[in-house]
Amino acid sequence: MAAKKFDVVVIGAGPGGYVAAIRLSQLGKTVAIVERENLGGICLNWGCIPTKAMLRSAEVFHLMHRAKEFGLSATGVSYDLPAVVARSRGVAKQLSGGIGHLMKKNKVTVIMGDATIPAKGKVSVKTDKGVEELEAPAIILATGARARTLPGLEADGDLVWTYRHALEPKRMPKKLLVIGSGAIGIEFASFFNTLGADTTVVEVMDRVLPVEDAEISAFAKKSFVKQGMKILEKTTVKKLDKAPDSKGGGNVTAHLESNGKTETMEFDTVISAVGIVGNTEGLGLEALGVKIDRTHVVTDEFCRTGVDGIYAIGDIAGAPWLAHKASHEGVMVAELIAGKHPHPIKPNSIAGCTYCYPQIASVGLTEAKAKEAGHTIKVGRFPFIGNGKAIALGESDGLIKTIFDAKTGELLGAHMIGAEVTELIQGYVIGRQLETTEEDLMHTIFPHPTLSEMMHESVLDAYGIAIHM
Ligand SMILES: Cc1cc2nc3c(=O)[nH]c(=O)nc-3n(C[C@H](O)[C@H](O)[C@H](O)COP(=O)(O)OP(=O)(O)OC[C@H]3O[C@@H](n4cnc5c(N)ncnc54)[C@H](O)[C@@H]3O)c2cc1C
Repeated sequence: MAAKKFDVVVIGAGPGGYVAAIRLSQLGKTVAIVERENLGGICLNWGCIPTKAMLRSAEVFHLMHRAKEFGLSATGVSYDLPAVVARSRGVAKQLSGGIGHLMKKNKVTVIMGDATIPAKGKVSVKTDKGVEELEAPAIILATGARARTLPGLEADGDLVWTYRHALEPKRMPKKLLVIGSGAIGIEFASFFNTLGADTTVVEVMDRVLPVEDAEISAFAKKSFVKQGMKILEKTTVKKLDKAPDSKGGGNVTAHLESNGKTETMEFDTVISAVGIVGNTEGLGLEALGVKIDRTHVVTDEFCRTGVDGIYAIGDIAGAPWLAHKASHEGVMVAELIAGKHPHPIKPNSIAGCTYCYPQIASVGLTEAKAKEAGHTIKVGRFPFIGNGKAIALGESDGLIKTIFDAKTGELLGAHMIGAEVTELIQGYVIGRQLETTEEDLMHTIFPHPTLSEMMHESVLDAYGIAIHM
């Protein structure tokens, strides 16, 4: 059969690929998108969305236990794990179906199958019905990433889980070990700990959530410990000895090393959250001359791979591994292909959010990174306990920290922990995008009573004029 011709073929229908396809279609291009598993990619099916659905169940559970505080009563509060998971899977399915409608609406040709690139401008897709050949002058790689495995810590789905297993847990862990305290590890630790698992988090670096500002990490650790988690920092899991039973459960002995000392601890479930690796294999990239650094495709600031007509966006193109970064790169590349002149992405304006309890959100430089970069800084802080809305919500634990360049007033970074900060952070992201200075933020009128007032107060505090402190 003759090859089908398109202006662009996108490989991978995650938030990078499907957004690129829609934007290309808006710009008048003919587009095919190839997906081997689910429309929506990891984000909608096994990442951002199903985790948030599960965390919402944990949040409601947590609040039900606090009913008395609010003058309410809730007796016999319990959970049904399969029902929690069913809701999460249902939400993922609904959204994945929605992407199908968006593809149709935008006249994007969807081909379900496994893609390879036999030569520049050609894509071969192995589908259920055979091989389909496609041709396009531009190909966008948006194949995403998967869980990293470390030797000795390999997941088996029974005793040792990756995020995929943890999203469809076979059982409620009683004694859970989470290896890695990045966003993924901490979100699962938060979920299972809230539902009652005796949870231990091991982090090789000197603090949990090591990419966050040190003050936020310390605040988070205190809060997690208060909720009953054990946090072991500067600790490495050297080995896991598994003793499976006949029912898919059993026991795991973890060999931990910290400060040259080793100890063992027993668990019934381990979640390995030690990072991700790009899906670069099996596409034929090496033969095409596409450069790969460790597990990620090397690109320039416009997501060009250096091989004419081949672009890489999202997780396959490296950090930060975030859906909104993938989508924005998708739009940027679509516009570039269509002959427009998009701006490259500013990495320091991409917010990172962790939806544990309490939530964490940040954008820009941490205090340490700002100093390292040579800035003389002004730092503002405002605690949730000073905010009326936070107290009314029963969420008075939290902090908003802002960092300014003392000379120019540029907002260098913002770091938050507490209720709904994942929604608040966008205020500062817009500020950074508009190159806002402290003056603009000070003169902005924040509605009352809102948690956002703390964003104002933190800025005022950086200049010694906070009102409610
Ligand atoms: C548990 C978890 C929670 C997360 N939570 C968040 C969050 O809250 N916020 C956030 O911003 N990010 C979050 N992420 C990260 C986010 O999911 C990713 O950054 C995002 O999905 C990357 O999008 P992408 O389009 O690059 O790739 P993906 O979403 O990984 O999509 C790639 C697609 O390509 C397909 N594919 C791969 N190879 C081929 C091939 N050869 N042929 C055809 N198809 C192929 C795959 O099947 C997949 O569907 C989370 C990730 C995980 C694992």
